[in-house]
Amino acid sequence: MTRHSLPLLMVLFVASCCEQNSVPCTLPHQLATAASIDALPDESPRGVEPNSPVTSSTIVGSMAFVPSTQKLDVPTSAQTNATSRVMIVSFDGLRPDAISEASAPTLWSLIESGSYQPAALAEIPAVTLPNHSSMLTGLAILSHGVFINVTAPGRIEHPTVFDVSREHSVSSGFFVNKGKLGYLCADGDADFRRIKGDVDVIADECAVAIRDNDLRLVFLHFGEPDGAGHAHGWLSDPYMAQVTRADAALRRILDVMDDRGIREETLLIITADHGGHDKTHGFPIPDDQHVPFILNGPGIAEGRRLTTEIHPMDVAAIALAYLELPMTIARDGRVIVEAQIDFSPTVDDIDEPALLFTSICGPMPWFFMTATLVGTLGLRRKFVVRR
Ligand SMILES: [Zn+2]
Repeated sequence: MTRHSLPLLMVLFVASCCEQNSVPCTLPHQLATAASIDALPDESPRGVEPNSPVTSSTIVGSMAFVPSTQKLDVPTSAQTNATSRVMIVSFDGLRPDAISEASAPTLWSLIESGSYQPAALAEIPAVTLPNHSSMLTGLAILSHGVFINVTAPGRIEHPTVFDVSREHSVSSGFFVNKGKLGYLCADGDADFRRIKGDVDVIADECAVAIRDNDLRLVFLHFGEPDGAGHAHGWLSDPYMAQVTRADAALRRILDVMDDRGIREETLLIITADHGGHDKTHGFPIPDDQHVPFILNGPGIAEGRRLTTEIHPMDVAAIALAYLELPMTIARDGRVIVEAQIDFSPTVDDIDEPALLFTSICGPMPWFFMTATLVGTLGLRRKFVVRR
């Protein structure tokens, strides 16, 4: 190795470190997997206080099944906005690139008339129950500890948006067509709780409940895209057909809301728990992790493409905020203010990790390169000029 090659290697090493560091800078909690929890004692998921680090024992504790009769610690005493409504819709396994004007005209029109992020980030592992747990608790997977993706007895031990709603007499409905999601809403947690096996049946149940009752919080789930993805492959013709079918089912429910005159007071939060590739999903790759995120309703900007980093736990935060319910349970979620009509960006709205990356990680290669060049010139002057 010549004396000239050492500074060059230093430059390459520093540049490569910063390149690798750029990922944790922007997505620290996205890279944490169950296998790496013990290796990341200082990595706090977004919103978790540094003084209460997530540990393996917390996670093991969270896996304990809670009987549905057990009283949870739910925030109380808040004035709710009696005219606001929220409907959360989850298209299981929906990839953003499956949405087009032809394949999903309802979603397409909601994107056009609302705010949209085509690359919201599902939590890792990008699978159904963990990500829906994040949607309904407002907690990252490392916080709620639900890593399993099977039908489990009891219910999640953390409070959900349904617990907060019930505590404040906000009527709610839970309509899903995958049995394992029953873990997130036990009997009695919501005023309506339906777990059926078909997109059309569950959509009809939901539509009738909305038509005949004064529901203010609705969670609706369509499992068909995921099922077709596993059977035939993501973006295959059968998969796309199920996307279209679920899209049409959503249209029927929106029509009922229009007929009832409650559509204009309803905030729609539409997303997915994960994407998929080939006939599977669950990996930290864009095809599996990127999901669509649509906000549409009162106060939401029309035709806006969101740049904010969005996660499933933001669903609970947005829903509770819009219903003017206490948001303390959703400590890893945040309201996406960029979607609000009157949003005007300030430096405070810039993501802290992004700011960190731009202001610290960004200039680092240039700093070290300059320092290395100056050092090299100094050495040359010392050893070459004097010779
Ligand atoms: Zn699946």
